[in-house]
Amino acid sequence: MPRPLSICLAKWCAIGGLLAALMCAASAAKADPIACDTPLIVVVAASPDLAARVCRVAAEADAMLSALGLRHSRPVTIEVTPDLGVSAAGCVAYFHTGGAVLTILPPDCLEGEDGRLGPFPKLAAGPLFESLVIHELAHAYVEDSAAPDSLPRLVHEYIAYAAQLDYLSKPDRDGILRRSKADLPVDLAGFSEALLNFAPDRFAAMAWLHLRAQPKPADMVQALLDGTARFEIWDE
Ligand SMILES: [Zn+2]
Repeated sequence: MPRPLSICLAKWCAIGGLLAALMCAASAAKADPIACDTPLIVVVAASPDLAARVCRVAAEADAMLSALGLRHSRPVTIEVTPDLGVSAAGCVAYFHTGGAVLTILPPDCLEGEDGRLGPFPKLAAGPLFESLVIHELAHAYVEDSAAPDSLPRLVHEYIAYAAQLDYLSKPDRDGILRRSKADLPVDLAGFSEALLNFAPDRFAAMAWLHLRAQPKPADMVQALLDGTARFEIWDE
């Protein structure tokens, strides 16, 4: 049975992808795949410059996620494209479970309405784009690190959002923390599907605050992966 879809950011996914595809037609051209220096990561993008930018972010993601004890043993392709390959709804980025493919809208598409209406509407297209690379790669690393079909969506998104916010500059992250009104202390009981669906900015801020407050963040990530730490909803 497939794991629940790790669709990125519910509000974004409720907005029409067709509009994004029309707006971003200029970005549709694809160059040949480029292999990043980071092993097992390949980028498909409209230009070598854009691919190089994604590879640079991917290297940072690899360092960050490896420090959290997450594994990367399977090939991942990051495709920067106005067509995310999601039939049911429009997203700005998408992790295709089991397929080892991440699709992300190009920065020029994120300048449009889709980007502004996401959970982080004040974030400029550049940092939003790069942080989406981090977020989606986190999903890939989490899936790689977990036992098959064992993880609920909350664990995936907790780690992905925490990594995404950690990548952002302090001013960008502080803005999200301030607007979401998230503050310490945060504990796992405060996370829920409802929070993720209806206040993803607050979910993201809480995830970052909670993970950052851990004496050893990698231990918390491992505990979530192996089930020794649980969100309250699991016990219902
Ligand atoms: Zn996600």
